[in-house]
Amino acid sequence: MSAKKRRPAHRKAAIRKHERTVERLGRLVSLWMDRLWLGQWQIDVTWEWNGIRNETGQPNFIVHANCVTSWAYLHAHIRFDVPECSVLSAYRLEAVVVHELMHVHVAQMCGEGVDPNHEERVVTQLTNVLMHAYRARVS
Ligand SMILES: [Zn+2]
Repeated sequence: MSAKKRRPAHRKAAIRKHERTVERLGRLVSLWMDRLWLGQWQIDVTWEWNGIRNETGQPNFIVHANCVTSWAYLHAHIRFDVPECSVLSAYRLEAVVVHELMHVHVAQMCGEGVDPNHEERVVTQLTNVLMHAYRARVS
């Protein structure tokens, strides 16, 4: 008998699902960085496996990703919660990517003393508009 522990089948399936999600997120970030004209930005992307702290003030809100920018230096860091993203539909996963990238565009307008919900509302609406417009254009 091998000393190496075997992972149960459901665990292996979950790992494969998470790997596919990481690949899809990587492709979507690249695609939408181009569509959103963010090529001059350095955008680092990292994967989280144990959750992202909920700072929304809404206790039941699931955080799929977050974005922190240093807009003066055209640098952003986006973190994706892979397990949470793995259960999203293709459309919702794409919307999460567009939402986070839209934070990059509006970051300069947001700062201390400004209710962050205003930024979230603007970014969410811009995401909806962009995705709707893009789909209407190609169909
Ligand atoms: Zn947001």
